[in-house]
Amino acid sequence: MLFRCARHAGYRWKGTTMDFQLSDRQRELMDAAREVYRRKLEPLVSDDSVEGVHALRWTMAEQGLLGLNMPEAYGGVGLPLLDTLLIIQTLQSCAPILGGLAHRTSTGAVGAIAEYGTEDQRQRFVAPLCRGEIGISIGITEPEAGSAATAMKTRARVEGDKVILNGSKQFVSFVNYNQYTVVYCRFGNTGRARDIGAVIVPHDAPGFSHSNGTLNMADELLFELYFDDCEVPRENVLLDGEAFGKLISVYNAERLGSVSRMLGSAEAAYDYALAYSQERRQFNREICDFQGIQWMLADMRVKLDAAKLLTYRAAANASATGLPVPAETSIAKVFTAQAAKEICDDAIQILGANGYTKEYPLAHRYAEVRGGSIYGGTLQIHKNMIAAAILDRRISQWKKD
Ligand SMILES: Cc1cc2nc3c(=O)[nH]c(=O)nc-3n(C[C@H](O)[C@H](O)[C@H](O)COP(=O)(O)OP(=O)(O)OC[C@H]3O[C@@H](n4cnc5c(N)ncnc54)[C@H](O)[C@@H]3O)c2cc1C
Repeated sequence: MLFRCARHAGYRWKGTTMDFQLSDRQRELMDAAREVYRRKLEPLVSDDSVEGVHALRWTMAEQGLLGLNMPEAYGGVGLPLLDTLLIIQTLQSCAPILGGLAHRTSTGAVGAIAEYGTEDQRQRFVAPLCRGEIGISIGITEPEAGSAATAMKTRARVEGDKVILNGSKQFVSFVNYNQYTVVYCRFGNTGRARDIGAVIVPHDAPGFSHSNGTLNMADELLFELYFDDCEVPRENVLLDGEAFGKLISVYNAERLGSVSRMLGSAEAAYDYALAYSQERRQFNREICDFQGIQWMLADMRVKLDAAKLLTYRAAANASATGLPVPAETSIAKVFTAQAAKEICDDAIQILGANGYTKEYPLAHRYAEVRGGSIYGGTLQIHKNMIAAAILDRRISQWKKD
């Protein structure tokens, strides 16, 4: 009935620009990334010392696995967003540190420099990042400004050829391995989002310091950053206000990079549990013979495929410069973050007590994907944004006085 009404009303499916098949070239790129892992990277991934991560960066740069979507003019690979995400997902499934490095040097903080930076900034930051010489963190969150990011208080004041920062950030990732942080901060005094801009702060700048870090569930350190009359050359100002919208539009590509990492981890957990279920025997048969296990495998596969399709849609529909549609990004993020937790949880269940120990990789995979419901905007914040897109209006979360 519904279909007949739709036909009479002249309803026509408009479709999207997404092609539901990955091309041969995209599959080759994923195979090539897996091959580089086997040949060059596998022996390096267990060394998480600062020197070990630097060695990994150099090797990845040499193999063309950093700056995947960065312009070739600055040493990047120049891939479209979807191809970039496919490689991040593949590397993440091989080893989380690889997905993290590919993500941070492609869709990470560097994206804002590539999009809005001056030619000098691109030469000084994008090019060495693609060569594996430097790493760049992103500092947005503050003690009083988590989900309410625009409540940030860190200030920047331009004085002659310098910019002076005061304030603090928290929960900043990878600071121990990186040399710079793109710090979101206020340039004006209106108290509004329009004051917000960003400065590229070197970690050896006078007045900059950071905590020793707090370990998260996935055994990664999250850092507090302190700016105490921190002096940075003025040419490191990336955007001096009126920039929150611009920064967030690039940040949507970063969000899809994290979503691809969750996909990679969920896929690795699924593959591991599937293989285990075909080997482990109880009641004199493989446990994959039990319908209880088969239904878990089926649920995991359905969620994995659906999460991939939503993520690939968001990437395929990105603008020519790789900026995704915000609502499609949020939809991919909400579904994948939830699906990845459930897939890793089922994978642990399939392994029984082995899955729950740290001898097997699944507890760590679960811990990694768990953070995805919190960083880059919590799932609740993304659902707020999806609702605003559906209703086509701005829905302020701020309490009115
Ligand atoms: C692994 C990891 C890595 C991170 N890396 C970085 C980084 O590199 N740089 C950086 O700047 N930050 C980073 N963060 C911080 C992250 O961005 C923040 O944790 C996130 O924005 C949420 O802020 P919060 O933790 O203060 O939670 P809060 O904002 O205090 O939220 C607490 C709870 O309230 C809910 N809530 C809040 N407001 C609303 C609302 N309007 N509607 C519905 N529910 C709401 C939230 O969904 C959440 O459940 C990282 C976090 C994690 C977990």
